[in-house]
Amino acid sequence: MSAHANASREQIIAALHDGHSAARIAREFHCDKGRVRAIRDELGLPAYVRGSETPSIEDRWRQYAKPLPDGHMDWTGERQATSNRPLLSHGYRHHSAAVVAFRIRTGRDPVGQVRAECGMRHCVAPEHVEDEPGRRRIRVQARYLSGGRAVQERCQHGHDQAEHGRIAANGRAYCHACKRAREERARAKKRAA
Ligand SMILES: [Zn+2]
Ligand SMILES: [Zn+2]
Repeated sequence: MSAHANASREQIIAALHDGHSAARIAREFHCDKGRVRAIRDELGLPAYVRGSETPSIEDRWRQYAKPLPDGHMDWTGERQATSNRPLLSHGYRHHSAAVVAFRIRTGRDPVGQVRAECGMRHCVAPEHVEDEPGRRRIRVQARYLSGGRAVQERCQHGHDQAEHGRIAANGRAYCHACKRAREERARAKKRAA
C-alpha cells in the first residue's frame, strides 16, 4: 500500500481486501476515514480485527525454530539466562518456545510443564515436546509394551524413570541417563585411544 494524495475507490477497496484497518488506509491514502468505512460497509467487508496485521505467535516461533537432522529443532532466538530455556517474546511478554511448539502440534494449552522428550536438551520440535499428561501416557505405554509389568521406578543405577525413562523405536524401555553415561564413557575411551 503506497501513499496517494487522492485515493481512488478501487485503491481503497484493494487495501480493504488486503485486511488493512480503515484508520491505516485513511492515513496512508490521505483520505477521510469515514469514506473508507462507508465503502467497507457497502461491500459487506468485515471490520478490521486488531492484531491481524502483526504476525501470530506461531509465525514468530517459526522464524527462530531451526530444523535439524533426526527431526529435532534448535532454537536460534532468546534464551532464559540461567536455565538456557528457549524463550519467545510476543505481545510484550515472554513465552516458553516449548509451550508454543506444544500448541502448534496439539492445538491446545499444555497441562503442567512442557519438556522435550526426545533426549535433545531444549529441543523445540513440536513432535518432541510433551506436557505432564503426555509424559504419563508414555509411561503407561511403556508398562503395556513391557508386557503389563509395572515400569521400574528406578533403573539399576538409581535414576528416576519418571524423568529419565524413554521408549525406543522398537518399543523397548530404557534409561536415558544411563545411555548418556554409556555414550560419554565411549567418547572418553575414544579420546584416550
Ligand atoms: Zn528433538
Ligand atoms: Zn539409569
